[in-house]
Amino acid sequence: MFISKELLTVSAAEFSVELTDEQTDMFDNYAKMLVDYNEKVNLTAITDPDEIVIKHFADSLAICKYAPCELRGTLADVGTGAGFPGMPLLIASPELRVTFFDAVNKKLDFIRYVVAELGLDANVIHSRAEDAGRKPEYREKFDFATARAVAQLRILSEYCLPLVKTGGYFISMKGSISEEEKSFGITAFNKVGAELYDDIFYSIHNGDERNIIIAKKVSQISPKYPRNMSQISKKPL
Ligand code: SAM
Repeated sequence: MFISKELLTVSAAEFSVELTDEQTDMFDNYAKMLVDYNEKVNLTAITDPDEIVIKHFADSLAICKYAPCELRGTLADVGTGAGFPGMPLLIASPELRVTFFDAVNKKLDFIRYVVAELGLDANVIHSRAEDAGRKPEYREKFDFATARAVAQLRILSEYCLPLVKTGGYFISMKGSISEEEKSFGITAFNKVGAELYDDIFYSIHNGDERNIIIAKKVSQISPKYPRNMSQISKKPL
């Protein structure tokens, strides 16, 4: 094994996730592919096996513990990069149908490679989230949208909430968030048919602090959202 099976088991269990041997092997292969592929395409600064387990895999699995309901149905992982949190959630939750979105296609080539090598089934879409959110096939179609370390919460709201169906949830993961960013984010939720559902602080296995903010989509989004990238960045919600 490339990663420590024990560390993966213990750190996943901290987020109420119990992995089968088959899932553990998938995480091991994923870690190896991440480190190898990272030699040619810059995907992550984290290449130490223990750090991959704690800061990428278990951190992503935190959603399994803190999600407002069981993870089943459809999930859009926005700005997935090397697959976080979407790929660990896909490996751990066979009931979930994951769509990976990223603006950078060479990162998605890695996702396509991992999905094929692990024998998984997923949609991989090269698109900015706000462009996808205007297309009928993605607009208000997902039970969950996730984003880890992608943008400020008010900006993320306009990227992610257009993808979520009424009654679904947007789950934002960050290392830390200021009160100011949070309050702008909550105001933005209300403009795109959502409201704050939960705000959770927790620690990963090495003691680092993390924050998950969950918004619930309570009504259909106005046709004026999402705006295009330049409008979003010039005048965030
Ligand atoms: N979520 C991954 C993680 O936690 O390791 C990657 C985080 S990386 C800092 C941010 C990623 O978001 C990049 O891969 C970038 O291409 C993507 N991204 C930024 N804005 C985006 C947008 N509007 N739509 C889709 N992808 C976006």
